[in-house]
Amino acid sequence: MMTTDPALTPDPVDRGIPQRVRIRTTPAARPGIEPGRNGRTAITARPVVFDIRDMSCSYGSNRALDWTTLKIYRNIVTAVIGPSGCGKSTFIRSLNRMNDSIPGFSVGGEILYHGHDVYGSQANRVEVRRRIGMVFQKPNPFPKSIYDNIAWAARNLGMKRDLDARVERALRHAALWDEVKDRLRDSALGLSGGQQQRLCIARAIAVEPDVLLLDEPASALDPIATASIEELMTTLKDRYTIVIVTHNMQQAARVADRTAFFSLDTTGPERVGTLIEYNDTETIFSSPADPRTRDYVTGQFG
Ligand code: ADP
Repeated sequence: MMTTDPALTPDPVDRGIPQRVRIRTTPAARPGIEPGRNGRTAITARPVVFDIRDMSCSYGSNRALDWTTLKIYRNIVTAVIGPSGCGKSTFIRSLNRMNDSIPGFSVGGEILYHGHDVYGSQANRVEVRRRIGMVFQKPNPFPKSIYDNIAWAARNLGMKRDLDARVERALRHAALWDEVKDRLRDSALGLSGGQQQRLCIARAIAVEPDVLLLDEPASALDPIATASIEELMTTLKDRYTIVIVTHNMQQAARVADRTAFFSLDTTGPERVGTLIEYNDTETIFSSPADPRTRDYVTGQFG
């Protein structure tokens, strides 16, 4: 039985939001995606942050993602890769209910976060988003000062004590402090693209999340800014659990400990995003079990 976490309480904001459509699916319909113990699966001995069971996602009557069952482990980087349209963004955005506002969007199956159903009636959507922060493809700083960008969410959530220290800590963790400490009152819009993206990471960090979801965080950046984001991920994973969507396979190979490969299942009448293979990154890239993964990582598809 699930315990009741006082922080995950019903949220008045959620009133009036249609409950998710629960689509019960046949258990273990896609066996063999999670690897067995092979002596090299130490990562799977880590605490589980997300336990995702038979997850499916639809936009109205269009199925975007099907049969997704996987566990995401603490304090590592998990990459989600696959061809365009296979549901990578849909998957990651469903982990913190970012798609709730899209009319007709529905999630089936279960997404358990530390054992709590993210879409359950006990879940507080605001608290879910605080604990599971998100950074998007295009840096989206507010048209405010650097300081206020970081302080804004903390203020809104009532985390007003020691705000200066909170802002400094977030900027330091995002490896931006030294570059901005003398111009905290300047507009964030004057920062470079790479700095803006680290600012967005700092903004997420400032409210003390547990998970950072990064949706193609470097795809709009130049190679130097990309390298600094990748370097940052390797330091941030000591404090946070990171899930990154990337279309850049080299990036996944460089930064991720685990990699999930999604593709489009074309066997039925619809083209639906499906988890094909999930394993340690090294295995996905050097000895994948599924020929579709092999074709993708060797550049023969996608
Ligand atoms: P990826 O990130 O792998 O490119 P997406 O998750 O963006 O894939 O899209 C998966 C499928 O869901 C696609 O068919 C796409 O057209 C559809 N989709 C994504 N976002 C929306 C939306 N807001 N409304 C309707 N359909 C959407």
